[in-house]
Amino acid sequence: MKVIVLGAGIIGVSTAWHLLERGHEVTLVDRQPDAALETSAGNAGQISVSYCEPWAYKGAPLQILKWMFRKEAPLLFRPQADWQQWRWGLAFLGQCNDKAFARNVAQLVALGAYSHEALRDVVSMTGIEYDRIERGIAHYFTSRKSLDEAAQAVELMRAHGVQRQVLTRDELLAIEPAFRGWGEQHIVGGTYTASDESGDARSFTQALARHCARLGARMLFGRTVHGIEVEGNEVKAVHVSAGSGEDSASNDVSLQADAVVVACGSYSAPLLRSVGVDLPIYPGKGYSATFRILQPEAAPWISTIDDEVQCAMTRMGSHLRVAGTIELAGFDTSLDTPLARARCDLLKRRVEEVLPGVCDTRSEAEGGEPHYWTGLRPATPTNIPFIGQTRVSKLWVNAGHGTLGWTHGAGSGKAIAALISGDRQPIEGFGFLGAA
Ligand SMILES: Cc1cc2nc3c(=O)[nH]c(=O)nc-3n(C[C@H](O)[C@H](O)[C@H](O)COP(=O)(O)OP(=O)(O)OC[C@H]3O[C@@H](n4cnc5c(N)ncnc54)[C@H](O)[C@@H]3O)c2cc1C
Repeated sequence: MKVIVLGAGIIGVSTAWHLLERGHEVTLVDRQPDAALETSAGNAGQISVSYCEPWAYKGAPLQILKWMFRKEAPLLFRPQADWQQWRWGLAFLGQCNDKAFARNVAQLVALGAYSHEALRDVVSMTGIEYDRIERGIAHYFTSRKSLDEAAQAVELMRAHGVQRQVLTRDELLAIEPAFRGWGEQHIVGGTYTASDESGDARSFTQALARHCARLGARMLFGRTVHGIEVEGNEVKAVHVSAGSGEDSASNDVSLQADAVVVACGSYSAPLLRSVGVDLPIYPGKGYSATFRILQPEAAPWISTIDDEVQCAMTRMGSHLRVAGTIELAGFDTSLDTPLARARCDLLKRRVEEVLPGVCDTRSEAEGGEPHYWTGLRPATPTNIPFIGQTRVSKLWVNAGHGTLGWTHGAGSGKAIAALISGDRQPIEGFGFLGAA
């Protein structure tokens, strides 16, 4: 089959790779000059199969209300005059109960396990290097109450087959001694998942895109998708901006295929809505800061989650990436607003606090080379992505991976390639879009 994949983030590139593996003819389109230059570029790097709880749980509404006026809140809902935001918020509220939570966790665990295996297969087949560290993920706590709640969550996750342990402070610091100085005073304990891992999503995705090209994919980078043309409830064409040297009166070219997969992250929602497919995917803005490591022997190897600030820290080669916070406020990717600066400062301050002197956190004006970044998580009210066939014939979607797109990327690509090839249920226990 001829398949066009729209979007070359981790999800689109994994989709392309698995389609090629199955012998399909693939065209991959992205507006950026290379793969993984939007949300897949600067994330926390965690392959977080065993930390996959959805945002929506019984206590979330009250917690979010309390956070609403705090600039540094981990999750900030900033009301906009935007019906899509309010609709998404209402759907999210509908998920804030025990029954929905358990249902959502079960699906995320199923997708995570499938995806981890798919990632291992891709890595062993391609030999891609991406600063991978297979030492697990640790979550440390500075509040006894939060640790107790986390211990209860461990029990729940065990019921879903997730192997997560509760650790005392000493056990945690023995696994990751980098936090010893600060941690002995502040950490009260933690949890740990030995089978999780980390790595740089951008390096991985760009390398996999090159493998796709080698396998014969047609790569259309620097090309914006302007529209999907539907006739009689079937995709007729995809209109993309013309490349240099292409002769097109309208400055667009149209592409035809047997299947079109929309994998445009947060931008999938408006694109799909333009052809009557209405999916609740809303951008959840997050930030990261990447600092050069000055003391490699003192920097952490295990990727961690800091419960107090709700940020993740991951070693990526010679740098440390710290990432976190969520803002639900539309498609705003600015880094130079007071709010964005406050959130970036929070990440920097936390690194200075918990790992003093380990990284070069100086600003550019002070002679440092910090890299601050923001990206839009394609968030769904359930945290479960939409993978499958839309109600428009030949139109498929692989989007809405929210906070776990790197974790679920390989598996989501493999699953949609299987569905397009005719498999009905590639992941047991997962609800595919359009499945009978
Ligand atoms: C701060 C932060 C930390 C995170 N940490 C983690 C983590 O530790 N682990 C984890 O699993 N996940 C993490 N995530 C989530 C993860 O990064 C995302 O879920 C994932 O990158 C989404 O991938 P995607 O391919 O769907 O979207 P994207 O990477 O955004 O790719 C979509 C692509 O579509 C293209 N596109 C969009 N519209 C058009 C158009 N009209 N024409 C042409 N091209 C178009 C874009 O250029 C882009 O390349 C984090 C996210 C953030 C923001």
